[in-house]
Amino acid sequence: MGEHLKIACGVFGAIHLNRGNVFPYVYWGLRAQNHRGHQSHGFLTFDGSKFHIYKALDLVPKIRPSAINEWLERLPGHVGVGNVRYTTFGETDEKSILKDTQPATACIKGAKLAISFNGNIVNTLQLKKELTKDGRRRSDAKLLCIKILAEFSRSKDLFSAVEACMRDVEGAYSVAGITANGELFAFKDPHGIRPLCMGHSESMDIYAFSSETVGLDINGFTRDFELEPGELVVISKEGVKRKRLMKCRKAFCAFEIAYFARPDSRFDEKHVYEIREEFGRNLARENPDIAGDADIIVSLPETGDDAAFGVYEETGLRWERATRRHRYVTERAFIMLSRERYATIDKKVNILASKVRDKRVIVIDDSIVRGDTTKITIEKLRRMGAKKVYMFITFPRIIGPCFYGIDMATYSQLIGAKNTPEEIAKIIGADAVRYQSIEGFVNATGFRRDELCLGCVTGEYPTTLAQKIADTMKKRFLEGREETRRLYEDYALIEEITSSKNSS
Ligand code: SF4
Repeated sequence: MGEHLKIACGVFGAIHLNRGNVFPYVYWGLRAQNHRGHQSHGFLTFDGSKFHIYKALDLVPKIRPSAINEWLERLPGHVGVGNVRYTTFGETDEKSILKDTQPATACIKGAKLAISFNGNIVNTLQLKKELTKDGRRRSDAKLLCIKILAEFSRSKDLFSAVEACMRDVEGAYSVAGITANGELFAFKDPHGIRPLCMGHSESMDIYAFSSETVGLDINGFTRDFELEPGELVVISKEGVKRKRLMKCRKAFCAFEIAYFARPDSRFDEKHVYEIREEFGRNLARENPDIAGDADIIVSLPETGDDAAFGVYEETGLRWERATRRHRYVTERAFIMLSRERYATIDKKVNILASKVRDKRVIVIDDSIVRGDTTKITIEKLRRMGAKKVYMFITFPRIIGPCFYGIDMATYSQLIGAKNTPEEIAKIIGADAVRYQSIEGFVNATGFRRDELCLGCVTGEYPTTLAQKIADTMKKRFLEGREETRRLYEDYALIEEITSSKNSS
């Protein structure tokens, strides 16, 4: 279910080589990925001469049949990109959210560019200094767009421009964009932290990029490949050009697999639901004492469901469908603004008392971040008469912040940063909390350990500045120093860390 957190964005881009209108594909690509960002959405199409843009707050809307023509007229063109977004950078008031809604555009001396971006940039301070002189606030997507266009204006070559970005921009960025020549392009940061795949239509005249494969599936497209870390792909009338511009160690976000991605998506050959089932089997194998003491399994929908099936398969324990979603309360608590989060925390899931009364219950969830929602769920189960409540958590204990697009950006918001599983069990009122081991988690994913980012569970981050910020702030946090903002937005701290004296 998740308490929980927000991911930066979902990306979709498409090009119709026979110049058909591409908006419907981008629209459905985003509808399928709305779980990746609820706060705002945006579309941008290009008809050969002009960018057409639509941006709004909230979920991608349903389009009534009577309004279809209006939408097609509003967003004409054979190339398009779209974005669903949650703020992991910048202000969270409505005006700022709308202003920062993507796609982002840039224009330099008549040249222009548009991008849709998923991720988070760690060295925005450096980019701000390099690219802007007026002191105006800009989102990280906007800064990245300006950076690509500035490099492109210098080199007149998209491959060189993106390579320069990869050299200078630290963080996670999976990007789909449109040039003023009508090329659709996409690239991943050198570590490939966020997902991005390419696919095509059966007629082979439409090509698309999508954060998750479900964006291709909904359009009936065939998946071609997941972009490599540091790879740029450009699609135009001339065909598809692919080039790996930088080679670093792959560091795909492990949390995408545990929580963010839809279970029917796949990043390599395995579907996410298959991996989550294996997480469940692992948890059961790793914790025979709990499995032997419990009467039933209960999962928190929906990210706990597949793992619950795995626990059931391994133990034979009855998987009770004791938790039911309130059907039209669709917001994922993690994906909401903090005030809203507390207001709806108790409204998403109903628990059936008759199924848990007098039972020793294993509750399967994907992660514990702050611990607040888990605590409320356990209190509910106890009120309903559960004799024991054990928590099985598929994602290993989160001990550090994320710098790459998941909004857990301080140590103080993480219950696991200071507490052992036993202490956490006490705080949230569980009889036991058992996390899947890191080794078990990695084996289940099918990735090698060195192909995953596990920064928030190991403290080892794939990029340099993130590691320095994490190390510095962890020490200070343990000494009791207060964190006042997202660590990657604490520019005074970053100045201090990157000053020559400290960075040598
Ligand atoms: S630090 Fe954690 S949440 Fe962030 S990218 Fe790495 S694994 Fe994902």
